Amino acid sequence: MVDCIFCKIIREEIPCHKVYESDEILAFLDINPVNNGHTLVIPKKHYENFHDVPDEVLCKMMRTAKKIAPAIFESANAQAYNIMLSNGKIAGQEIPHAHFHIIPRFKGDKFEVHFNSKKYAENEAEKITEKIKKNL
Ligand code: AMP
Ligand code: ZN
Repeated sequence: MVDCIFCKIIREEIPCHKVYESDEILAFLDINPVNNGHTLVIPKKHYENFHDVPDEVLCKMMRTAKKIAPAIFESANAQAYNIMLSNGKIAGQEIPHAHFHIIPRFKGDKFEVHFNSKKYAENEAEKITEKIKKNL
């Protein structure tokens, strides 16, 4: 049995505020929301990373996100929303059970999605494009 907070939520060993449930997917409120209505969408089976989730399950996660995002948006009276997924500790993934965040947003809410963008050095874009294509 996997010792994972989200698996415990699925097994109902830890309570949650359930927003939506199907046979393979669960959506519930984040316990420490960025804003009211911040919701997590998870597969009921434990997969650590985005790329570990089988295609059919991932499609169901996305369809769930698409179904519930407008309801969250409406219910929170949000002005916008982000859908985010952190993959790996360095990217900010705290819980190693793949999950999408749906985060209602408001002007001036102080939640920053900030790309610390750079410029490509000469030929770097071509090189990395080729490497990615080879690894597909
Ligand atoms: P991440 O940093 O992408 O792994 O996000 C993990 C999220 O899970 C955080 O936003 C936490 O607030 C949330 N979280 C942790 N424990 C619980 C819990 N018991 N119920 C609901 N959300 C939780
Ligand atoms: Zn888990």
